[in-house]
Amino acid sequence: MFCISMQEENLKSSEPNSSQFFDAHSHVQFSAYAEDREAVLERARVAGVWMINVGSQIDTSRAAVELAERAGAGETAAGSAAAGLFAAIGLHPVHTSKSFHDEQELGGGDGARGFTSRGEAFDIEKYRPLALHEKTVAIGECGLDYFHFNDDEPRDEQVRKQKEAFIAQVELSLEIKKPLMIHCRNAFADLIEILRFYKKANGVIHFFTGTPDDADALLELGFSFTFGGAITFPPRKGKTAGDYDEVVRLIPIDRIISETDAPYLAPVPFRGKRNEPMYIPEIVKRLAELKEVSPEEMKAQIWTNAQKTFRIAA
Ligand SMILES: [Zn+2]
Repeated sequence: MFCISMQEENLKSSEPNSSQFFDAHSHVQFSAYAEDREAVLERARVAGVWMINVGSQIDTSRAAVELAERAGAGETAAGSAAAGLFAAIGLHPVHTSKSFHDEQELGGGDGARGFTSRGEAFDIEKYRPLALHEKTVAIGECGLDYFHFNDDEPRDEQVRKQKEAFIAQVELSLEIKKPLMIHCRNAFADLIEILRFYKKANGVIHFFTGTPDDADALLELGFSFTFGGAITFPPRKGKTAGDYDEVVRLIPIDRIISETDAPYLAPVPFRGKRNEPMYIPEIVKRLAELKEVSPEEMKAQIWTNAQKTFRIAA
């Protein structure tokens, strides 16, 4: 239950031209929220956070769309719940081969285990209807991950599968004219090579972990970047700056968007707990410090960037 004054506050923040907090990459459809999903969404709504829930394989992609769709029902007077929920659909590179079983993502059921042990090939006919849905604003998360290889299959075979799935999703994004939501770890050279070939591809690199040179190449290709909880972590022992400080400073402010990647990687002061979209203001605060603007300016800039990138109208 929320008091009336909070609802009034939210009404104000839902006015068409005011900026919203934006979480470009969360997973509220994942099993981590099975017990309290409605409460998590309500807390985000009250905090004025709009979000994209991102699929990682076919089931979580469907669930992301259903969540965005279902939120349209039962809209209240205060109701930005429907307006503020969007989906991204796609096949994560770690799910193209047998992958570690993440209970926060797929739950503990036998079905989930069966899925993760066999891996998934990207079937465009299954994904296209989800991609065309009006609440779907991006294709992903898709990309390349050379960090989480499994030991049961030759690496070049895993790389081949990842590239095949990624390229199919790049082509789908070009076909339906929606941006990519890219996941990339330890694979920036190959990623950039593919994106240079598909020059018209566009979108965001989620939780960017590359070098300043990788950032330059991706900026030149027109991509934007999302950053989350890791930018709030203090410098490691013996270091004077956080791991992402340099690269955030280097990227132009009109190419930066906030994300939580909830349920993972909660920002300080919630580090170590289950993450959720309502923590986005902590990310915006840290981005504002690094870009030397006020938190209000950072919030408004991110809102502008998100609307432009994902073609979201307030
Ligand atoms: Zn993610």
